[in-house]
Amino acid sequence: MTLCSTVHEQTRLIHGDTPCDVLERTPAPPIQRGSTVLLPTCEALYHGGRVNYGRGGLTTQRVLRDALRDLEHADEAFIYPSGLTAITGTLLALLSAGDEVLACDTVYNPTRRFLAGTLARYGVQARYFDPADSAETIRAMITPATRVIFLESPGSLSFEMQDVPAIAAMAKEAGVTTVIDNTWAAGVFFKPLDHGVDVSIQSLTKYVCGHSDVFMGLAAAKGAAADLLAASSYEVGWAVSPDDAYMAIRGLRTLSTRLARHGAAALEVAEWLEAQPEVQSVMCPALPSDPGHAIWKRDFTGMCGLIGAVLQPASEEAVAAMVERFELFGLGFSWGGYESLAIPVDPQVKVRTHKHSYPGPVLRLHIGLENVGDLIADLRRGFDTLSQETSAPQTKLRAAG
Ligand SMILES: *Cc1c(COP(=O)(O)O)cnc(C)c1O
Repeated sequence: MTLCSTVHEQTRLIHGDTPCDVLERTPAPPIQRGSTVLLPTCEALYHGGRVNYGRGGLTTQRVLRDALRDLEHADEAFIYPSGLTAITGTLLALLSAGDEVLACDTVYNPTRRFLAGTLARYGVQARYFDPADSAETIRAMITPATRVIFLESPGSLSFEMQDVPAIAAMAKEAGVTTVIDNTWAAGVFFKPLDHGVDVSIQSLTKYVCGHSDVFMGLAAAKGAAADLLAASSYEVGWAVSPDDAYMAIRGLRTLSTRLARHGAAALEVAEWLEAQPEVQSVMCPALPSDPGHAIWKRDFTGMCGLIGAVLQPASEEAVAAMVERFELFGLGFSWGGYESLAIPVDPQVKVRTHKHSYPGPVLRLHIGLENVGDLIADLRRGFDTLSQETSAPQTKLRAAG
């Protein structure tokens, strides 16, 4: 912009630089920061049809949304400040007072908390089906109030697979919208919208951002569900910063490469775990021994780095000693970053409607990008500690649930 030569420095400091039309081409998109959007004419103001305020996202968010829309084979992709707000935002968009949700009993626990808390206050009921229930069993639970079926396959703590195509087809016939938490597949290994699901949600915090330093969520949708999400996002006003959107775009560049590495290493660890005396069973749908293997093989094209193991009965203290003995596996929630994590979990045994128990403590592992031999050696050190602690007398043995 050229300023009239008589303006004061005070004014020049404010108006003197070029408004941020992009001047140079780079492989990476610009981080366009902005709340105000400058309109070229009053015509643009009066007759709209273009972005006129930064809250809904500018260039950087647009680039990310387009890439995520393509990744999930969606009509439209919406981004949220966290994975949890993608879940809560989707439910707010799809549900009204008097409606009912049928949810898988193994949904991410904060999803259950939102259904029991905010949505119950708003007059929405939730009922739960067992992750092993067939489409026919779920169909029998549908009432005229049922609006949404919420899936998560595999469950992020307990790894049960669901027959998503059959459930989505049944729901479509019944006029019920299906939503899935697709974080485990990272939008890469499973394309829910190709299998009839209406909304695919991801915590982008996990593999897409991939470096344990950004919170973000995605809801990718088709058809009428996409229209409802668009209207609700506009009304509610979710905003994601361009800096965070940039980090997610950067994560996408290496997503398939990282996932291939996470998955290959996790499969190697899973096979190793199966052969260890401290382990009763391994929770990893890519293993032929896993009860969900047939569905995984039919619907998925790969696996990520998140697996679980049911250990031989051991005291809480012995499990803690093992986890604290690990040098490479950090003790923490979340997953999808470059680093390995190990956490003792109670796979929702207390909150589930359909009771399920495990014959020993459950350990969830995220296999990072470290050398897999180093990771296995670290696990062996921890298991040695576990065995020593467990063979000591007077320890109280514990099973989860
Ligand atoms: C982490 C996680 C979420 C929530 O994502 P945030 O970005 O942490 O809010 C949702 N679903 C699953 C399966 C997750 O693991």
